[in-house]
Amino acid sequence: MATSAATSDAVPGKYEAVIGLEVHVQLLTESKIFCSCSTRFGDPPNTNVCPVCLGLPGALPVLNRKAVEFAALAAMALNCRVNETSIFARKNYFYPDLPKGYQISQYDKPLAEHGFIEIDMAGGKKRIGITRLHLEEDAGKSLHDGFPDAAAKTAIDLNRTGVPLAEIVSEPDMRSPEEAYQFLTRLKEIVLYTGVSDCNMEEGSLRCDANISVRPRGQKEFGTKTEVKNVNSFRFIRQALEYEIERHIGVIEGGAKITQETRLWNANEGRTYSMRSKEQAHDYRYFPEPDLPPLMVDEKRQAEIRAQLPELPEARRERMIREYVITAGDAHTLTATRALADQFESAARAAKNSKRVANLVQSELMGRLKARSLELEQSPISMAGVAASADLVESGAISGKMLKDLYDLCFERGEDFLAVYEEEGRPEQSRDTSALEKLAEEIIAANPKQVEQYRAGKTTMLGFFVGQVMKASKGQANPQMVNEVVRKKLG
Ligand code: ADP
Ligand code: ZN
Ligand code: MG
Repeated sequence: MATSAATSDAVPGKYEAVIGLEVHVQLLTESKIFCSCSTRFGDPPNTNVCPVCLGLPGALPVLNRKAVEFAALAAMALNCRVNETSIFARKNYFYPDLPKGYQISQYDKPLAEHGFIEIDMAGGKKRIGITRLHLEEDAGKSLHDGFPDAAAKTAIDLNRTGVPLAEIVSEPDMRSPEEAYQFLTRLKEIVLYTGVSDCNMEEGSLRCDANISVRPRGQKEFGTKTEVKNVNSFRFIRQALEYEIERHIGVIEGGAKITQETRLWNANEGRTYSMRSKEQAHDYRYFPEPDLPPLMVDEKRQAEIRAQLPELPEARRERMIREYVITAGDAHTLTATRALADQFESAARAAKNSKRVANLVQSELMGRLKARSLELEQSPISMAGVAASADLVESGAISGKMLKDLYDLCFERGEDFLAVYEEEGRPEQSRDTSALEKLAEEIIAANPKQVEQYRAGKTTMLGFFVGQVMKASKGQANPQMVNEVVRKKLG
């Protein structure tokens, strides 16, 4: 298996990697891009087909308005310029899963161009260019198992044929597998926020082809690239790129040349294999699709679409840090999905102390969800419950430990926080300070040196005593009460 250690030793030395990505994102329309067949995933094979998506002679495509809207929305979120006029083109090739013998795509006049994504690397923010975003139709799927005769035959499922895709092509701006990984992570996050795709890699709603070359450091021209296809996780893409970088360097160092080709990643073996020599654009005989007029997205329509843009993750993180006085780390975790960010914000607004809500959501709520493999939507505790529980701790009515116990009961019973709180008879943490006073006296007696320092004017020693008492109470005590008791006892 390729290791990053070996790569990062070799590459920073003599060679530099150059990476560009092509990402296909399935758009969440209900019907296909040029016909009214359903796009539902998992239906019996070849049930969602019609003369148009089967490519029967004489059938005419009609463009799905929603697909255009979704693609334009994604393009805007990726900082692209949407062209008022774009052109569909036929990309001709033969493959069993492509009944028409051509794919309707866009070529020299794509829907959108000149975008970028910013990634966070150790050295700071880096901008990765997006060359273009265009609309195209998906092909069918070859099935190799799961039916009688599978050992001898390949079957074709054409349900996916004609499903709308946005293809997003990056500039060759990335210089390491880690940058590619970050780019994909950001891209997916942004597209998910727009809601135009579910970006589900297992179901093929997000697919990525990685282009990679290496060149001697300081050389201006790019080296010959290879393209790695069909890698089905971001982690594997990073591994495949690491593998390819080492392979390229090995070939070049051995005095040979890299062949421009398409390669496949084998996750079990941790290596890539040559699949076919790379087609050139002229092999596809691209020409304008005669059955579809130019696609017009005028200024007015663009403004309508732009109005639907949600607040995007980066901007949202910055606002949340300001508004709720939380850390960048908190903001990152809490904006992982738009749903989580929405939920957090509703609780943070309802509660007195938003930072406490941030801590509760991350440690107590998400921790318990994760331990039980539950999604946020399956949480027994609502955000109103989170806010109420945060306020109870805030006012000193319950302790942090009691909150944990109540949360455990919520998950056991599948009930919301306030319901369990009522059922348990609105438990309150003890206001009886006698036990605390005894603890404080013991700790004061055991630390005469610190007492002396405190009395000599080093008031910061108070924290030491509070900490010791908290520890002795195993975190059960209310810090505010401990503070009062210790202060009193120290005189
Ligand atoms: P092709 O014509 O082979 O499809 P393109 O120029 O359309 O190549 O680029 C396809 C993808 O490959 C883009 O993401 C681009 O950034 C990337 N790319 C182009 N040249 C190189 C290179 N020499 N090394 C790495 N990536 C490259
Ligand atoms: Zn159809
Ligand atoms: Mg190309």
